[in-house]
Amino acid sequence: MPIDATLPYDDQNIFAKILRGEIPSKKVFEDDYALAFHDINPQAPTHILVIPKGPYVSWDDFSAKGSDAEIAGFVRAVGEVARAAGLVAPGYRLLANTGLDSHQEVPHLHVHIFAGRKLGPMLA
Ligand code: IMP
Repeated sequence: MPIDATLPYDDQNIFAKILRGEIPSKKVFEDDYALAFHDINPQAPTHILVIPKGPYVSWDDFSAKGSDAEIAGFVRAVGEVARAAGLVAPGYRLLANTGLDSHQEVPHLHVHIFAGRKLGPMLA
């Protein structure tokens, strides 16, 4: 079910549980600002999710309320994950669904990294 990105943060969401170590994940990166792990239902040969460590529902919430350090740390982490996975030369796509019309399902900000095949033109 898509979520309303204007709702308050729910600390029982599945990515909050992954951050607390209550649910396992296939982790590929972690630092003070971000955690990255493989998507459980990959839509491309490489499909990694990068999430901020702070309690932010969406891109909107994070960009409005995140500290400069959190935002910089998160953006750098996304780039680092892609570099470490060797995705820069072949290329990759970033996606951050935000709210109902985007079909965001998990109410903790996540950036999808898709790669590993020719992704084709962006579909709206
Ligand atoms: P959204 O539609 O942008 O919110 O994407 C949510 C993503 O989270 C989907 O691609 C799901 O496959 C993925 N997902 C849901 N639960 C888990 C999990 O427990 N581990 C890893 N990925 C998950």
